[in-house]
Amino acid sequence: MAYIQFLGAAGTVTGSKQLINTGDRQVLVDCGLFQGLKQWRERNWQQLPIPANEIDAVVLTHAHLDHSGWIPRLVKQGFRGKMYASPATIDLCGILLPDSGHLQEEDAAHYNRNKKSKHDPALPLYTFAEAQEALKYFSPVPFEQPAQIGSSFTFQFVPAAHIAGSSMVEIKLALNGTSRRLLLSGDIGRVRDDEVCPGKVQHSGPREGESADILVMESTYGNRLHPTSDVRPELAKLITDTAARGGTAVVPAFAVERTQKLLFLLKELMEEKQIPRIPVHIDSPMAISAIQIFLKHSEEYTPRTRDLIARYGSPLEWDGFFFDQKQEDSRKLNDARYPMIIISASGMVTGGRILHHFIHRLPDPKNTVIFIGFQAPGTRGAIIKAGASSIKIFGEDVRIRAQIAALEQFSDHADTPELLEWLATFKQKPSQTYLVHGEPPAAAALRDAITHKLGWKVDVAEWLQKVEI
Ligand SMILES: [Zn+2]
Repeated sequence: MAYIQFLGAAGTVTGSKQLINTGDRQVLVDCGLFQGLKQWRERNWQQLPIPANEIDAVVLTHAHLDHSGWIPRLVKQGFRGKMYASPATIDLCGILLPDSGHLQEEDAAHYNRNKKSKHDPALPLYTFAEAQEALKYFSPVPFEQPAQIGSSFTFQFVPAAHIAGSSMVEIKLALNGTSRRLLLSGDIGRVRDDEVCPGKVQHSGPREGESADILVMESTYGNRLHPTSDVRPELAKLITDTAARGGTAVVPAFAVERTQKLLFLLKELMEEKQIPRIPVHIDSPMAISAIQIFLKHSEEYTPRTRDLIARYGSPLEWDGFFFDQKQEDSRKLNDARYPMIIISASGMVTGGRILHHFIHRLPDPKNTVIFIGFQAPGTRGAIIKAGASSIKIFGEDVRIRAQIAALEQFSDHADTPELLEWLATFKQKPSQTYLVHGEPPAAAALRDAITHKLGWKVDVAEWLQKVEI
């Protein structure tokens, strides 16, 4: 029996992995890391239901770690096939995966120093070197160029409009004389967001007019509406108020895409004199590489982004914007007590330099934390955003007295009306749709909305569930 098995992002938004077994080929679409609550993270240590060396290929929708971050572990366990991804996705994985290995090593070392792990000694899931080693299995496949895995499995990437390089995977399977078409959406970008949150790197809107027998689709915002108000006045007020009270605005942001988008907005607001010209520190060693990759893939710009780059040039050369490469640059910020903006990763406060900035800035009410990204349940980001009075960082309780704000307009995921709008463009309705990559209430709400509005047959995927193709 040919089947799809959901090995991750079922019941949660992380750990994306779908195994497609055609009988003669086993292909993994996405190979993501589980993040957030411990019950999910522990799954990163479990074996897959089939040995890694029996998987023929990985097809990767985009570079976010919840889709790509388990790749080095898969290679560590014996995978030796090809990993197919778009050129921009491969460039981004070149910085994200080694960085993830580095963070895994740092975490393990930290726990060993403080003897806080149940495991003795704590081990990294994979190391920086192992992540670098894994990169050599990547093979680029440009958008809309068919590629073949054995005789039964053909696929092509089409734009998903989520982040640079992000793709959906259209798959054609030849099964015992019949042909089946699958569409795996990966993460789906906004259909319309230029008005409310300009500066998005990737062109708006996933490809229209799809058709598939089986659709596997994300449901992150299956029960949510994004605000339709312009983010600029809100952002300007938060920055201006913080600067006026002598505080610092700290923004946990993913170094890829989200940081570039924020930088262009801040630059624009400064040039238009809507916020004071205070120093902007991009405290993320990854940010420079991410900006270089972003500048390299100009084919994916929106007209608006093209215009911003023509007007302001590379963010790496802007006055008053500092890219803090070294640890000591980052540490110097800890003692600085003048108004500034610090943008640092990780975006969900699960690790990285942002932890140190939070230790120093959270206890002071003059400061502001501005969340501009999705915070997966269980992450420190989600706990702080929900209004906690303290948060555990490196085993210590840190009091939270800073102002906490969240701007939802930055989302790179389509919300419910946008998803329905995209589905309505399908040329033919799928005989079966499975929802992945959503918290249970979001997935259930989206299932009901699609069933009700479009009359499609929809199920929410369950972890380890096998469904016939
Ligand atoms: Zn993503």
